[in-house]
Amino acid sequence: VLCAAQDFDFFYFVQQWPGSYCDTKQSCCYPTTGKPSTDFGIHGLWPNNNDGSYPSNCDSNNPYNQKKVSDLISQMQQSWPTLACPSNSGSSFWAHEWEKHGTCSESVLDQHGYFKTALNLKAQIDLLQILRSSGINPDDGFYSLSSIRNAIKNAIGYTPGIECNVDASGNSQLYQIYICVDTSGSNLIECPVLPNKKCGSTVEFPSF
Ligand code: 5GP
Ligand code: 5GP
Repeated sequence: VLCAAQDFDFFYFVQQWPGSYCDTKQSCCYPTTGKPSTDFGIHGLWPNNNDGSYPSNCDSNNPYNQKKVSDLISQMQQSWPTLACPSNSGSSFWAHEWEKHGTCSESVLDQHGYFKTALNLKAQIDLLQILRSSGINPDDGFYSLSSIRNAIKNAIGYTPGIECNVDASGNSQLYQIYICVDTSGSNLIECPVLPNKKCGSTVEFPSF
């Protein structure tokens, strides 16, 4: 029997620090459900190839359907909050992530499985707790990029990718953490290719 092989090599599981999304010239808007908790939030689960390329928008016949994830919505509001303007419930962010990225792993994870898998990974990897245990706290100034990377590597066993953005004064700040996951979505792996994102050598970890 021939099975369709999945057309990607691994996932990036990407979490964002809300303080850094909001502390920019562009600012942010809280979701209609209220200010998110002081925690990393899910950005997405992104199919990727070993050469660094990635597929996107793979199946326009399988649009986001909230009915398929109705049992997960309260967890998504908690762990996958939107911060883009204008304020909304989050469904436009979730729809964007499913349609751009999730449809490219639909041979492995259906819509419910895609969101459930990301929520499971979030529950498994408590980045704020990991950083705090290493003395890396929000609203406490600047940290070396290597101290952040090492704290996460020592806790999860694999080297993360780190992306920064820039605040209104031009400071580099910790924005997103990329962790690699196998094609099943359930096992962390060493990244076949680290995302090509940049940070200053010291980065701010702003409050939220
Ligand atoms: P940016 O250009 O802001 O880094 O990324 C814009 C969007 O492109 C991201 O939100 C994500 O959807 C996609 N993207 C950027 N870099 C990667 C990557 O390395 N892998 C995958 N799968 N998607 C990416
Ligand atoms: P990407 O294409 O980079 O995966 O996703 C970014 C898209 O999702 C953008 O269109 C952005 O406006 C939207 N979006 C909605 N809420 C958020 C959020 O909280 N964080 C980020 N990074 N993008 C968001």
